[in-house]
Amino acid sequence: MSQTPVVTRIAPSPTGYMHIGTARTALFSWLYARGRGGKFLLRIEDTDRERSTPEATEAILKGMEWLGLDYDGEAISQFERADRHAEVAHEMLASGHAYKCFATQDEIQAFRDAAKAEGKSTLYRSPWRDADPSTHPDLPYVIRVKAPLEGTTVIHDQVQGDVTIRNDQLDDMIVLRSDGTPTYMLAVVVDDHDMGVTHVIRGDDHLNNAARQMLVYTAMGWPLPVYAHIPLIFGPDGKKLSKRHGATGVDEYQTMGYPAAGMRNYLARLGWSHGDDEFFTDAQAMEWFDFNGIGKSPSRFDFKKLENLCGQHIANANDAALLHELEAFLASTGANPLTDDQRDAMTRGMYCLKERAKTFPELLEKAHFIMASRPLEMDEKAEKALDPVSRGILSELTPQLQNASWDRDTLEGIVAAVAEANDTKLGKLAAPLRSVLAGRAVTPSVFDMMLVLGRDETVARLKDVTA
Ligand code: GLU
Repeated sequence: MSQTPVVTRIAPSPTGYMHIGTARTALFSWLYARGRGGKFLLRIEDTDRERSTPEATEAILKGMEWLGLDYDGEAISQFERADRHAEVAHEMLASGHAYKCFATQDEIQAFRDAAKAEGKSTLYRSPWRDADPSTHPDLPYVIRVKAPLEGTTVIHDQVQGDVTIRNDQLDDMIVLRSDGTPTYMLAVVVDDHDMGVTHVIRGDDHLNNAARQMLVYTAMGWPLPVYAHIPLIFGPDGKKLSKRHGATGVDEYQTMGYPAAGMRNYLARLGWSHGDDEFFTDAQAMEWFDFNGIGKSPSRFDFKKLENLCGQHIANANDAALLHELEAFLASTGANPLTDDQRDAMTRGMYCLKERAKTFPELLEKAHFIMASRPLEMDEKAEKALDPVSRGILSELTPQLQNASWDRDTLEGIVAAVAEANDTKLGKLAAPLRSVLAGRAVTPSVFDMMLVLGRDETVARLKDVTA
């Protein structure tokens, strides 16, 4: 076991939004590092200047923040490190691991056409690889790294096992373009090295890149990182996850009001498992997360499971923390912030609001009796439940509630007694009472609502409809 502290990273290319797959890779990298007292870094791979707008970068930072994936230090911009990348290309040149290639596009095309005609590999083999520098023309050139011509390259991957690539399938890839700009393949390696990244966790669509990136590590004499290439996320139908299946952007899940802890739990389970554990905390995930729990085949996104876990996280959350997250959710939707009274009532009522709510909109739906103000507007069902007979019975409640001690047992006793005196059941009074207290037919229990609203508001709502 190496003693080097673990350093992981997420290295998204800004695409305009944060894909759920990127979020999962970030989560795995975060769990791996945090569970080992290591560091988790963020690098924005913003070398594609057309796509790399400030908004696109912002979308990633926001996604990370919402998911609660905190990273160490500042986000690093790959683009800003271009000089350093070029410097490394020149070092490889100086040490003989790379060479200047003066071939023009036409020459490369001619090489390929000829190779094809002869039925040979079309991988470009530059005549400049072994050319004497004294024969170099004064023309633009690219820098290519020398790939081994024979043998094999083995990637010791923590998820995929040993993956062997034949070296005759590796070309002398370009590391520096003729305009002096670095290629992506070079930049990734230099950045990972300079950032001290020990473990590269990423989608298995990068597995082939690993073999090529290893050329740079070897040329520079740098230690290789540990690789873990994780299978991609599929939709429920077993095809690559796309819009067709539902939301693919992290921001969409935020807008739908899923709690971040539930999202983290679900994403952790997407492709990784620890025994039969489904519901777990961050602390548990950090303790348990390891590469041997990552499956080799693509995982399927299961919206039901996501909802189920989110419901459990809401139900188990600390009330104050939940209220805080709920307020952040309201702010993100552009809704009015809670008034002080609403916040107090939410605090009192959180214990019953958080039962069986899978999302914040569902929780807010249950909190309608808190958010609505008098006189309450009633929906159709509520209106129907409040027939004249029950209206009359409920009017008897008012004087009794005015002097009652405000606790559950007393309130239940009073409502039961009024029901009995009117030859009806407590259950029969519940529906009209719901209408009075919430203007809705689906609400928390009437006693919970009375306790949360308090005497004055409860009596006032009763008087609004019975007076
Ligand atoms: N920028 C790459 C991507 O967004 C990730 C590269 C890496 O993790 O090495 O897919």
